[in-house]
Amino acid sequence: MAQPRSFAATYGGRSQSFRHIMKHSFVYCKIALCCRITLLLHYIKMRKQFKRAFIEITNICNLSCGFCVSPLRQKSFMKPKTFETIAAQVKLFTSLISLHVLGEPFMHPQLPEILSICSRQKLDVNLVTNGTLIDKFGPDIFKEKCIKQISFSLHSFEALPEKERPEKLNRLMKFAKTKPSDIIISFRLRGTTESYFIKEISDYILSAFPGKVLTKYKDGLKLQDKVYLNFEVFFKWPGQGGLREKKGCLGLQHHFAVLCSGEIVPCCLDYDGKLSIGNINTAPLADILGSPSALSLKDSIAAKTPIPKFCETCGFIAPGSAKQI
Ligand code: SF4
Ligand code: SF4
Repeated sequence: MAQPRSFAATYGGRSQSFRHIMKHSFVYCKIALCCRITLLLHYIKMRKQFKRAFIEITNICNLSCGFCVSPLRQKSFMKPKTFETIAAQVKLFTSLISLHVLGEPFMHPQLPEILSICSRQKLDVNLVTNGTLIDKFGPDIFKEKCIKQISFSLHSFEALPEKERPEKLNRLMKFAKTKPSDIIISFRLRGTTESYFIKEISDYILSAFPGKVLTKYKDGLKLQDKVYLNFEVFFKWPGQGGLREKKGCLGLQHHFAVLCSGEIVPCCLDYDGKLSIGNINTAPLADILGSPSALSLKDSIAAKTPIPKFCETCGFIAPGSAKQI
């Protein structure tokens, strides 16, 4: 008499292949889920409202360039704790920050701590610096994951005694050649190509990259992989440009800035907070940026309504703007 087969005997093979299918379906589901989460994160990142923000960690500088302005604000350093609270709010609006408006970021005694907060908060940093203090905190500071680009504003070398320039420039060249491979370096020179200073500095930089094929790249030259020499013009700060009608600007559309006092302003040209729309130390950033006065200022800066008097006298063209004035 035929014995009833056990469940395992009857379904054993099928059960195994069922388990196999289930196991693989589970793996595929997991992969699909991961892909969806990655896409969603990418989408959220893409959807961030602003391309970049400036968080001024100090308004103190070690140099005094002829081109610069003198803010009326009190000199101060932003505390790392305050920075952390601000960064946590800013990252909801943008993924890219710079650590200046006025002032030199390397003057901040806790810059390493601030950069490590940026890495933790998964913010990308374009560190704009005059480059004269890059050795202040040692080489480990450049291992921070958040640092995507370092821009050396070389017009500031005009403020250095002439005999100090070669040594400082050599240091920056060496830095560019030995930097962590994923960091972009931009040597930024402001002025006209007829200027002796611009010729002197650009010749010096070009001679430090001999034998390289120089390719034209946007507003400058590519010196080697991820190292660029960019030329920019001097601009008139608000109040220095006379009454020139602007067609509009990208302040509060493309970027905004947080002064070290916590004031939220449309751009890095508003160094004294004349167009302040609120203070992040007393109100949430989302409320400030979404307030009726901020939205009305944004329209005004974009020239949808009469532009602010302050902007009428500003000669700066924000990166990414359509050609203006
Ligand atoms: S280095 Fe920059 S912040 Fe410092 S004085 Fe020169 S322009 Fe101003
Ligand atoms: S016009 Fe000048 S001051 Fe006004 S938002 Fe633009 S950059 Fe700032």
